[in-house]
Amino acid sequence: MSLNLTESMTISYFGEPWGEPAARHHRIPTPVGVPCADCGTPIVEGDQGNRTRFIACPNDCLHPEYAHRECMLLRVFGHQMGCCACNNFTNIGNARAAAILFWQLHGARFDKM
Ligand SMILES: [Zn+2]
Ligand SMILES: [Zn+2]
Ligand SMILES: [Zn+2]
Repeated sequence: MSLNLTESMTISYFGEPWGEPAARHHRIPTPVGVPCADCGTPIVEGDQGNRTRFIACPNDCLHPEYAHRECMLLRVFGHQMGCCACNNFTNIGNARAAAILFWQLHGARFDKM
């Protein structure tokens, strides 16, 4: 199984530095209070994550989107690791709870990512 994040997903990161993002990309302030693009839960101080992309709006400005590290990895790798809706994994409560459980089960293998 190959685990590769695309360049666009690791452009900037927030929270405690880890692995590849810290080595190759720049750290941005934690966007406290901004809802995670994946789970909808507001980001709090101490979370880790990435600025995932910019959304163009009708006023011609670009709005950044942020996501928790574990939410993003769940979205990208959850299916191939059996942690997805196909396996009833995401029915455990809410999207944030699912991502945290995913992280408890599989987070160690993403140390460098
Ligand atoms: Zn999230
Ligand atoms: Zn705008
Ligand atoms: Zn699936």
